[in-house]
Amino acid sequence: MARFKKTSDRHHRSKTILYTLLSIGLCFSINIIAVSHLDFANQDFSDDAVTQWLSQYMPPSYATVLSDSLIRTDPRLVDNTTLAASRRDDRTDIWLAATGDIMFHSPQVKAAYSSAADTYDFKKSFANVAPYLKAADYTLGNFETTTAGREKGFSGYPAFNAPDETLDAIKWAGYDFLTTANNHCLDRGIFGVERTIEQMRLREIAQSGTFLQHETDAPRYYTTTVKGIKLAIFAVTYGCNGLEQTLSQAALDQAVNLIDESKMAETLQAIEASDVDQTIVFVHWGSEYRRTPTEDQEALAKKLVDWGADIILGSHPHVVERSEILYHEGSPKYVIYSMGNFISNQSRQTLTSIGNAKYTENGVIVYLRLTKSKDGTALTAVRHMPTWVSRSNALKYVILPIEKQASYAETPAIYPYTADAYDATMSMMTPDADY
Ligand SMILES: [Zn+2]
Repeated sequence: MARFKKTSDRHHRSKTILYTLLSIGLCFSINIIAVSHLDFANQDFSDDAVTQWLSQYMPPSYATVLSDSLIRTDPRLVDNTTLAASRRDDRTDIWLAATGDIMFHSPQVKAAYSSAADTYDFKKSFANVAPYLKAADYTLGNFETTTAGREKGFSGYPAFNAPDETLDAIKWAGYDFLTTANNHCLDRGIFGVERTIEQMRLREIAQSGTFLQHETDAPRYYTTTVKGIKLAIFAVTYGCNGLEQTLSQAALDQAVNLIDESKMAETLQAIEASDVDQTIVFVHWGSEYRRTPTEDQEALAKKLVDWGADIILGSHPHVVERSEILYHEGSPKYVIYSMGNFISNQSRQTLTSIGNAKYTENGVIVYLRLTKSKDGTALTAVRHMPTWVSRSNALKYVILPIEKQASYAETPAIYPYTADAYDATMSMMTPDADY
């Protein structure tokens, strides 16, 4: 895994992507001013209606991007023109995007319900961040609920079961991969674990961290190749809220990857010995509402890097914890201890007994560029985009991207919150940089 010297060519490419993101951000800053005054009661959120609705509030080019995304197959995987262009100079660049906890509490489910059609639609929650998620070549997140089916009754905390339509919205928003290794994966037992996996497969969303009982030969990690760069994604959780004890040891071992240092070392070393170019570890760990990582998190991160992890994506505390670069044999390895909530009903209004409640509204999209050349594959750029969940009466549960501190300066109703979220999150991120 060689570390690359900076080149003007790579600077140019990263700037192009950054400027694209920046221009999207500016467009959305303007859009939200118009959108925030709308009343969403009885809004139709079918694919056609959403496309039409979005097209009213953004330049045609972005409407087209979103419209194209409604096609279920991902054109990026079969676009050889893009592939060829990205391989100039015998280098391949890909951008990953990653987000934290995607949660669906009962009030969110109620807000997404349309009694007229007796269906749920969660797309509006993701509409403003979708272009940012799609800007990457591969997008990952933590799905912290189950889809055990309507017959089982939908529920929020403490035993989550969300409508299948949450996955429609997630797919629509641009996610390629979801980790299901988290403390809520067993909320509806083995049935919930398995139905959640099946619903993701039906929508062609890749998944790992939990497993079907009969697929005992399946690897405990997921591999995929993006523009010629082979990624392994290994997802683990510290536990499952004690529900582990309701299962036999054999059923539990098969159902979910738990943090077990000897097993993790073994798995990561096996990946390292394979033809994988970069290894991503998605870890559900840490202490809820704590804005700094625990000593255990820091110690485990160092071990994971020693065992072969190239990227460590943390989740669970429901607030953002810092990111940093750990060097291993001269190569930069990215760690973020917690990406916070990407969407949830947690907020300063709903968590009044918790001191850090306002930080549960914040999240971050982590962008990582990986570059493959004859010398190997390495992390070559890091960017961060803070997010904040708007819970206004009109705009229920909308994730807002915050390109810069002043992004919403002309919208007084939300500006103090978005500016505060931007500062709080960016103050904990490793500086955006090229490596
Ligand atoms: Zn959790």
